[in-house]
Amino acid sequence: MDHFPIFLATAGRRIVVSGGGDAALSKLRILMKSSARITVFAAHPATEITTWAATGKLTLVRRTFDHGDTICAALFYGANEDDAEDKRTAAIARAEGALVNIVDNLGDSQFITPAIVDRDPVTIAIGTEGAAPVLARAIKADLEERLPQSLGTLARIGKAFRTASYALPFGRARRDFWRDYYFNSGPKAMTEGEEHVRPALDALLESHKTRTARDGHVAFVGGGPGDPELLTLKARRALDEADVVIYDRLISPEILELARREAVMIDVGKEGFGPSTSQETINALLVEHAQTGAQIVRLKSGDATVFGRLDEEIEAIDVHGIGWHIVPGITAASAAVASIGQSLTRRGRNASVRFLTGHDMKGFADHDWAQLARQGEVAAIYMGKKSARFVQGRLLMHGADRATPVTVIENASRPEQRVLETTLNRMAEDLAEANMTGPALTLYGLAPRAALQTVTEIPLEEMA
Ligand code: SAH
Repeated sequence: MDHFPIFLATAGRRIVVSGGGDAALSKLRILMKSSARITVFAAHPATEITTWAATGKLTLVRRTFDHGDTICAALFYGANEDDAEDKRTAAIARAEGALVNIVDNLGDSQFITPAIVDRDPVTIAIGTEGAAPVLARAIKADLEERLPQSLGTLARIGKAFRTASYALPFGRARRDFWRDYYFNSGPKAMTEGEEHVRPALDALLESHKTRTARDGHVAFVGGGPGDPELLTLKARRALDEADVVIYDRLISPEILELARREAVMIDVGKEGFGPSTSQETINALLVEHAQTGAQIVRLKSGDATVFGRLDEEIEAIDVHGIGWHIVPGITAASAAVASIGQSLTRRGRNASVRFLTGHDMKGFADHDWAQLARQGEVAAIYMGKKSARFVQGRLLMHGADRATPVTVIENASRPEQRVLETTLNRMAEDLAEANMTGPALTLYGLAPRAALQTVTEIPLEEMA
């Protein structure tokens, strides 16, 4: 982040613009939204500028900008539409201590003006470090559409009510009250008219005052295979409301970013065969936080019900009568099979599919190999990298065809996704050679659909 976003206090401060043409006009339109004292230096100002000066929106000085003109100014805009003049004026402004922006000249500017979505007092600033103004405008248009015009009004009325809300205890109770206001009762009252909002707030506060403190609760949330867009809407909402997030190693940073900013984030990352937070510690953490009344998100990769040791955690909190629910997620097998354009089941090929783990707590896991060795069987093997040779040996021993297709998908749904196409005969060697370091899912009995074979070899960036 080369440019750090901040909101500048402008009340009573000076902002100086040099120039009176189109470049100056476009900056002035947004600057006039602020409470700054704006001064424009222009020998030949556009008519809009003279009108704004006449109506007291800004001060116009009808001459070119010069020494002393930026004394005590917070910001300076060089909008002369002339490189030499921009350079001359910027040098003066910089020497006089103003922060300088030269229109359309990122390199010589000390700050940039973001694209703005204005629902005053809610202001959203969008910046791309000058890299993609078109993208910034598209995001702005999208937000303009999505955020109701009434948002600003709700925030303004809400602001005036802040002191009244202190009647509720600090922390969760107050947060619940405001959430209810902004996302439920506020918008509802607004549809009847602005004058209904304040009475609605009073009523809401009374109802929240009589509410007993919320009980602690655990949401077991499936975080999906890694791509944040594969989170469910329920998972997003749970993350948004969480007081505490307890997450596993495979949860991607992009997903953790979505958690409520104030949430306590606890990493209990576990690695197969490697160092880990013990299950007992995780259970104890769940109980301890829930007993303080926290809304906990227990975030597990994929679907929490698949090789997630979910039952142990549920049993641990059940003993203490702590409430819980499960939010399903997309399991690695679904993401992996999608990435090779295949189906997990297919009429006439396999009417069932197995989810296997390569190893369990005791080591390599045993299964009904004879059953699996039959023609057409399909299995999704989780945690199957280290056990590849073992699985291969067992299947061959039970008469499986050496040519049975095997596809290993590493980092399914993530930008670093890799697909290894092999056979039962070669799977162990090929896997060892591929040296995969990310999570990998082995699809036994499935090859990438022919048409996709070439596509999977193209790096993802080139597919965008
Ligand atoms: N609950 C998870 C599985 C946890 S076990 C789920 O439903 O997906 C961890 C194993 O899941 C890993 O060893 C790997 O086999 C698989 N896995 C998880 N994320 C993956 C991904 N993005 N790509 C490939 N395999 C993944």
